[in-house]
Amino acid sequence: MTYDYRHTGRISIDLALTGGEGPAFARFEVIPTPADLDAWLAQSDLGIPRARATEDDLVVARALRWAIWHAVGAAIDGEPLRRADVRAIEDAAAAAPLLPRIAGGWRDPTARSALSTIARDAIALFADPEQRGRLRRCAADNCIVPFYDGSRPGRRRWCEDRRCGDRHRHRTHRQRQKEPA
Ligand SMILES: [Zn+2]
Repeated sequence: MTYDYRHTGRISIDLALTGGEGPAFARFEVIPTPADLDAWLAQSDLGIPRARATEDDLVVARALRWAIWHAVGAAIDGEPLRRADVRAIEDAAAAAPLLPRIAGGWRDPTARSALSTIARDAIALFADPEQRGRLRRCAADNCIVPFYDGSRPGRRRWCEDRRCGDRHRHRTHRQRQKEPA
């Protein structure tokens, strides 16, 4: 099974967009098995070719993404983060993170260390009011995907330009063509 992974520019949010718990989120699931977590890690911005995730890693990944998903929503809505979400993120960050190599890539990367790195990205995001204030929801009508606006002016509108941005431009272009000159 090949999936269409999300690349919003912030790894902790990308993990949160790999699916969720309960029937409403089932159709968004892209990491149902440890092998799927490996595939996601390989395609993610971390680029880990063979993470060899275990069932335990998968449990950590799913708990972490669910906590990030809820924490992002709370941050966007200006609400305090739930204690359980904070704990799940900090628990995932307690393991040793990925070790970057001078020549690029990671030294002996594992799924668990990747999840720690992702959890630490989430902590950096939520701990800093400046970064927290750059969390937004996509402006497209039929999209609720959150993203981190890392642009300097802070006026990014779309979760991903190649998805919602392109769709918006196509639609406005068609509308302009329909209007009488
Ligand atoms: Zn979108």
